[in-house]
Amino acid sequence: MYSFSSPLSRVKGIGEQTARQLDQVGITTVKELLLSVPLRYEDRSHFTTIAAAPENELITFRAKVLTVNASYRGRRSITTARVSDESGTIQLMWFQSSFVKNNLRIGSEYLFSGKINERGIIVHPVFEPVRSKSLHTNRLVPLYTSTLTLKQGTLRRILMHILDNLGQEDDPLVQKNPEILPLSSALKELHFPSDLEAVIAGRERLALEELLGLLRHSDSIKKAWKRDHAASPITQSKPQIPTSIPFTLTKAQQRSIKEICDDLNDATPMNRILIGDVGSGKTVVAGAAALQVLAAGFHTCLVAPTQMLAEQHAKTMQLLFSETAIEVLTSRQKKPLKLTQPTLIIGTHAVINQLEQIQPRLVIYDEQHRFGVSHRSKIQKLKQHPHTLTMTATPIPRTLLLTIFSHLQVSVLDELPKDRLPTKTWLLNETKREGMYNWVAEQIAAAGSGNFLTLMVCPFIDPSESDALVNVKASTQLEAQIQERFAKTAKIELLHGRLPAREKDRVITKLFDKKIDILVTTPIVEVGIDLPQASAIVIESAERYGLASLHQLRGRVGRAGQQGYCALLTSDGKTSSGRLKQFAKIHDGQTLAELDLKHRGAGDLFGTAQHGFDDLQFASWTNIELIKQAQELYKQLPADWQPFFEPRITDSQVAAN
Ligand code: ADP
Ligand code: MG
Repeated sequence: MYSFSSPLSRVKGIGEQTARQLDQVGITTVKELLLSVPLRYEDRSHFTTIAAAPENELITFRAKVLTVNASYRGRRSITTARVSDESGTIQLMWFQSSFVKNNLRIGSEYLFSGKINERGIIVHPVFEPVRSKSLHTNRLVPLYTSTLTLKQGTLRRILMHILDNLGQEDDPLVQKNPEILPLSSALKELHFPSDLEAVIAGRERLALEELLGLLRHSDSIKKAWKRDHAASPITQSKPQIPTSIPFTLTKAQQRSIKEICDDLNDATPMNRILIGDVGSGKTVVAGAAALQVLAAGFHTCLVAPTQMLAEQHAKTMQLLFSETAIEVLTSRQKKPLKLTQPTLIIGTHAVINQLEQIQPRLVIYDEQHRFGVSHRSKIQKLKQHPHTLTMTATPIPRTLLLTIFSHLQVSVLDELPKDRLPTKTWLLNETKREGMYNWVAEQIAAAGSGNFLTLMVCPFIDPSESDALVNVKASTQLEAQIQERFAKTAKIELLHGRLPAREKDRVITKLFDKKIDILVTTPIVEVGIDLPQASAIVIESAERYGLASLHQLRGRVGRAGQQGYCALLTSDGKTSSGRLKQFAKIHDGQTLAELDLKHRGAGDLFGTAQHGFDDLQFASWTNIELIKQAQELYKQLPADWQPFFEPRITDSQVAAN
C-alpha cells in the first residue's frame, strides 16, 4: 500500500532510472506524481466489432491475432498483422515498430484501438492484452505532458498501479462535508475517468483544495505580520485634514484618510491597499497620510513606478503642503539626502535601496499594479517595521481580495470628485483618421495654444520593435507623420522611455508648463501622470491592450473637470471587436476589470506574466461560487489543517511587505 507521501523510488515498477528522470522534473513522491494530471484524454471508449466499425473514427475492438509479419521496405521496417473477431478480419500496420512482433502472440486476444483508413486498414493501432481493467484502450485514455519525460504507456501503467494500491487517507474536508468528493476518488477520476463529467468533478475538488491552500497562505502572512512586527503607534488623536487642500475632499477620500489614520494609531503596522479608479484622487489621500507621520516626527517615503511620476508627485505635494520638507530620490539623483527634519522622500525604486538610511515609519507605493515588488528583506532590516500603504487604480476583483489578498486591509475610493464627466470614447476605423485629426486641430485652435493637450499613444517606441506587425504604429513613425500633418497648427513633442534623460526632462518640463499641443508617446503615460490640460487621447492599436490598461490610458484626460475624449484605432482597422465596443460604453474601472478577468485572465489586470496570477493549476478566478465555498469551508477547518498541495504562489504576489 502506498500513501501520498511515499517516495516514488519505493513504487513497484519505478526503477532507478525512471525515479531519477522524475526527480529531475521535481517529482519525488506519490502525491507529486498524482498531481501531474493529464493534459487531455483520448476517447477510445467506442467499443465495436470489426464489421460494424465506422471508417476514420477512433474505435476499440477485441480480436484474435491470426498472423504477424515483419519486413523491410528500403530501410523502413514494416510490421503487419491480421486479426479477427467473430464479425470479420482486418489488417493492421506499424512502421519502425519492430517490437510489435514480439508483443503480439498468434492465437491470443488483445484490445486494439485506432482508426480504419479508406484502404480498410488501421495504421499504428494501440493494443494491450485483455485484462480486467484496460489501460490504453476501451476507455478515456489519459495523455500526459511530455515534460514528464516518460512514455505515455509507462506513465499510465505506473499511475494505475499507484491508484490501485493507494491506502485510505484522512480527508478533513470530507469529514466536514460528506458531499465533497474524497481526494483519492478525485485523483482516480482525473487519471482514469469513467466519463468526462467525472473529470470535471475531479478538477473541481482539486480546485477547492488549491483555493483553500491560498486562503491558508494569505492567512499565515496575516498572522506573521501581526506576530513579527510591532510599530509604535503614530499618536494623533484625530486625523488632521490639512487646510491647504484647495478642494473639498470627497466622502470616500475622507473615509479612507480616517481608516489609514486609525491604522497608524495601532501597534500592528498597517498593511493597507487603497483602490481608487483613475482620477479618484489617491494622491491627496497619500499626502494626508504622510502628513500625520511627518507631524509625529518621522520620515515617510512615497515610491512611484516612474521617474516622471515621482517628479510630478513632488511638485503636487509641494503645492498642496507648502510647509512640508520634500526630497526627490531617483537613480539619477546623485546628491545625498538631506534629512535634518521629518521629510517626505519621493522617488522611484531607488528609495527602497536607501530605506535603512531613511528609517521611515510609513512607506507608500503608488500605482502598484504589480504587487510584485517585495521589499520584505529590505524592510526587515529596519529598526521599526514601517506602516505600508499601496495605492492602485487596478480594481482588484472581489474574488481575489477574498483569497490571495485577504491579508490586506482595503480602502476604496468609490467616488470621483464632483463634476467629473465620463470621457467620451469612440472606436474609429481608418477612414475616420483624417476627420479625427481635423477635429483635434480645431480643438487646439479653439482652446488656444497649450490648453488642449492631445496624447497620441503607440504600443511601440520605434518600428524595429514592431517589424512583424505590419500595421502597428511605432511612436517615432507616428511622430514624423504628425509633424507633417500638424506642421503649422500644433506644438508637437515625442516622449518615450528610451529618450536621453535630458531630452526627457526637456519634454516633461514643457508638458508641465503647458507648452505642448500634441504629445506622441508610448504607454509610459499610462501610469499616474496628472496633466490637467490633457483633454484628448488617441490610442493606436487599441486591440493590443487589456481593458484595465485602456482604462488607465483614458484616465489621463479630462482630469480637471473638462470634457475628455478618447479615440481608439485598431491595427487591422476593424471596429468589430466586442471587447473594445464594450469599453467605449463602460466607464467604470471595476466592471472593466471584471470583464478583463473573464476575457483574458488575471494576468491582464496586473500587467505582465511575471505576477503569476495565472498560475492557478486547477481553480479559476472567475469561479466565484467555488471561491465562496472555499471561504465557508476554510472557516470550519481545524487550525492545524494542512493543504493537500501548496498553491504555486510566491511571496512576490502577495503584496507590499
Ligand atoms: P489618481 O487617483 O488617479 O491618482 P489624482 O490623485 O492624481 O488621481 O487626482 C486627479 C486630479 O483630481 C488631480 O488633479 C487632483 O488635484 C484632483 N482632485 C483630487 N481630489 C479632488 C477633489 N476632492 N475635488 C476636486 N478635485 C480633486
Ligand atoms: Mg495617481
